[in-house]
Amino acid sequence: MDNTCMIKVEHLSKKYNNDTLVVLKDINAEIHKGEVISIIGPSGTGKSTFLRCLNQLETPSSGKIWINGQEITSGKVNTNLLRQKMGMVFQNFNLFEHLCILDNLTIGPMKLLGKTREEAESRGRELLQMVGLLSKEYAFPKELSGGQKQRVAIARCLSMNPEIILFDEPTSALDPTMVSEVLGVIRRLAGNGMTMAIVTHEMNFARDVSTRIFYMDEGLIYEEGSPDIIFNKPVKEKTRNFIQRIRNFSYHVADKNYDFYQMQSQIRTFCQKYFFREDTINNLLLIIEETMNLCLGEGDSITRNEIIENTGGLDVSIAYSEKDGSISIKFIASEELKTIINRTEESDGISFSIIEGLSVSIKENIENKQVVLFIVAE
Ligand code: ADP
Ligand code: MG
Repeated sequence: MDNTCMIKVEHLSKKYNNDTLVVLKDINAEIHKGEVISIIGPSGTGKSTFLRCLNQLETPSSGKIWINGQEITSGKVNTNLLRQKMGMVFQNFNLFEHLCILDNLTIGPMKLLGKTREEAESRGRELLQMVGLLSKEYAFPKELSGGQKQRVAIARCLSMNPEIILFDEPTSALDPTMVSEVLGVIRRLAGNGMTMAIVTHEMNFARDVSTRIFYMDEGLIYEEGSPDIIFNKPVKEKTRNFIQRIRNFSYHVADKNYDFYQMQSQIRTFCQKYFFREDTINNLLLIIEETMNLCLGEGDSITRNEIIENTGGLDVSIAYSEKDGSISIKFIASEELKTIINRTEESDGISFSIIEGLSVSIKENIENKQVVLFIVAE
């Protein structure tokens, strides 16, 4: 990384609705050549607005921005030239639907960079090869998966030879199974020294790919620092709360006639929202199903199922820590139940070994007159 300042922002503010909505209050930042900046923060804090001000999709209310030493807020700058130096990748791909993949990559270089079709196609194929999609050169966007479309969008952006790329939640519109193929391409660009600013909710990715993290809140870059500082020892409490936030899901089971399919589908929706891997989701569902069988099934467990029904049911909750990616499942019932998994009952053997095989740890305690079974999933 050298010290060339690619982006400099001074006292940037942006207001909407006749200045009644202050989204960006006072943003100050410098991004140097070769840096990979991840921008994180709660939704609605102006992360997209910030990126849009950088490449002139929005006009700042006040403040100054320099790109590569040139002030773009002076009103005298050539927007097309600026956008060519600074590519942007959006959540929703924004490909040209009526053009095949190769043409999506050649139209810009031919129209704006004066390249011949031959030059543009040769470079376009090189880029498609790089993102693993050369075999799709003549396909149309609608024939591709979301992950493939996003990789094409990145290749198209590179076809303009940008000096900086801005990414606005590039994986948020994707199926969980496709997130990693897109992050893989971005990682590779980072490895090649591309200067990038990435708005993302992928905390693990942000932690290991970034040179610096901007935590945005209250219309400011509220805290910035190395991934180690921001993720492990943030100075400000708000940053800490955001980083350590734990996502929760819970479902109440009143008796053995509960709606198993509804519970399953709610759990699946929760897991997909946070991009759990498909095999992780299936493991979680199996752990929960087997535990429910132990509690509510017939046979030896008949008394347990009656106790649960008579003492107000059972709660299942899932806690997901965005900080370290750990997932735990908690089952809570009245302490009258004594144990949720009764390891001494022979008929429980198979269910218990399934649960054990899928778990990192299993712990059972009595807390506050409740029996709590705590399972950490893989
Ligand atoms: P983030 O990307 O961090 O989720 P945004 O930059 O999209 O946040 O939006 C920040 C705030 O600005 C939100 O309250 C949003 O409703 C508002 N906002 C964004 N664009 C406009 C607009 N063009 N007109 C009015 N309000 C807007
Ligand atoms: Mg946004």
